[in-house]
Amino acid sequence: MTPAAYAVLNLDAVQHNLAKVRQVAPRAKIMAVIKANGYGHGLLRIAEALRDVDAFAVARVDEGIRLRKAGFQNRIAVLEGFTCSEELAVFLRYQLDAVVHCDLQIDLLAARNEHEQLAVWLKLDSGMNRLGFKAKEFAAAYRRLEQCQLIKSPINLMTHFANADDKNDPKTQQQIDCFNTLTADYPGERSMANSAGVLGWPTSITDWVRPGVLLYGISPFAEVTGEQLGLKPVMELHSRLIAVKQLEQGDSVGYSGSWTCEHPTTLGVVAIGYGDGYPRYAKIGTPVLVNGQRVPLIGRVSMDMLTVDLATQPHAKPGDPVTLWGNGLPIEEIAQCAGTIPYTLVCGITPRVQIIED
Ligand SMILES: *Cc1c(COP(=O)(O)O)cnc(C)c1O
Repeated sequence: MTPAAYAVLNLDAVQHNLAKVRQVAPRAKIMAVIKANGYGHGLLRIAEALRDVDAFAVARVDEGIRLRKAGFQNRIAVLEGFTCSEELAVFLRYQLDAVVHCDLQIDLLAARNEHEQLAVWLKLDSGMNRLGFKAKEFAAAYRRLEQCQLIKSPINLMTHFANADDKNDPKTQQQIDCFNTLTADYPGERSMANSAGVLGWPTSITDWVRPGVLLYGISPFAEVTGEQLGLKPVMELHSRLIAVKQLEQGDSVGYSGSWTCEHPTTLGVVAIGYGDGYPRYAKIGTPVLVNGQRVPLIGRVSMDMLTVDLATQPHAKPGDPVTLWGNGLPIEEIAQCAGTIPYTLVCGITPRVQIIED
């Protein structure tokens, strides 16, 4: 018996996607981004599948600690850095690379006098306006940081793109130019490209690339799927039918009765809902595979169930297999139907979904 809701993770696909990065960026070192529980796929599982990368990147220090405690000896960069001296001490203890993006962090570094203990990535805000020093502050930040005994030299340099998934937005080239100009005189290694940079902006590929979503086989671009880019999706989400029933014209389905049968309808109830991470905002008509064939979602997604119109599958019965995304049903398409991006879907898988490693 299969579980009611389960995700199959094809870990060989991770290696395939990593090979794709190596093919596109053969001279770059790879910092594999595995924040947010490996984009919902499981932090340690994904780290294991990527164990030969040059570095991992996580968002928070506790994710770095988990990797160290599990025995990973790769470099680990913590993208949000630290905000107090206790947190800085954790970076030293676990030998995590720190992203330095604000003056308070430099104050904390300057206050310690050990020698060359901490690798740092000085972050330029080249236009994202989130973390990082603005262009006009950057040189001063560099000079201050350089004076800190604690840091290993040379200082590594990074920036992050705001809109690289839109190949027509001139902003990305401006960010690349800004970064290149401001870092030209410094000896450290450089890093700009996220997944969209790796695949769409060859001039953003420098000493280090930082792919995230593409490693999971997902396209960073709205208009193409991972498969069309030569990637292999890692996660598939499955469930099964638990009821099939005949409804009459005028019957309404589910909470709020948001869908009403215009004609006699064969309804299928699928044992998965937003309590599993299936998006509640998936619109009516979102495709679902029942017995490998597309049928439309009808009614509202509820916590444990969703409903589909089985008009094209009159013989479907309880127990039949259902795929919510996976082979034949790209997650990118489901994300569009739900008004979101695939990142939120994979990150949103909840703990009650059983994971099956393939
Ligand atoms: C999340 C993140 C990445 C990876 O982004 P993808 O779009 O998933 O490739 C790279 N760099 C930084 C700073 C990030 O926060």
